[in-house]
Amino acid sequence: MSKVLSDPPFLLDGENLALNLVNTEIMKRGNPLDLLQTPQDVARWWNETCQRHPAFDEVRRGSADTTIYDNELLTSVKTLRASLRGIFRALIDGEIPQQIDVNQLNRILRTNYSVLEVSKEGDLFLGAYTTDARHGLVLLPIALSAIRLIVQGEHKRLHQCDNERCILFFYDSTKSATRRWCSLGCMDRARSMQRYRETKRTVIGE
Ligand SMILES: [Zn+2]
Repeated sequence: MSKVLSDPPFLLDGENLALNLVNTEIMKRGNPLDLLQTPQDVARWWNETCQRHPAFDEVRRGSADTTIYDNELLTSVKTLRASLRGIFRALIDGEIPQQIDVNQLNRILRTNYSVLEVSKEGDLFLGAYTTDARHGLVLLPIALSAIRLIVQGEHKRLHQCDNERCILFFYDSTKSATRRWCSLGCMDRARSMQRYRETKRTVIGE
């Protein structure tokens, strides 16, 4: 299928699963593009994400993966994504998140329960499980990672890319906390745009 080959790849480099989900909405040639348009897109995104970051797959599966990649999951993922976008944007702006967005996140968090587990070696750890066998294995890890960012993260390190043609979010984990762009590519594009404007201004000014 040529459609699949021409689709832009998912952005999987981020350290936070919730931010990675929000970043499935991108700008391409000046137009918004949603990388999650079908249940199959969600399946592909989730599989590629877990391959790249095995730790994101943190909710226990019990005996088997019972996830059903249907339209209901697609809708739930998009609803969660919109709520996370709203909450992250509010944190960046120093505002209080909308209750409707908080409620959406809480709806998924309520499917979470924790269990003290003992490994064969005698290690004790807290295992995360979900009561939503059909969709919780995808939705809950995203919600848990969002909570970690919201509750434990430094909000001043959360940003939306400074490139005016980019809508991606990122968490700045540099020591200096002065990162402004989602990627080196965006930094280069933003700087060359700035140089172009300055040159134009100089030419027009003369
Ligand atoms: Zn960017």
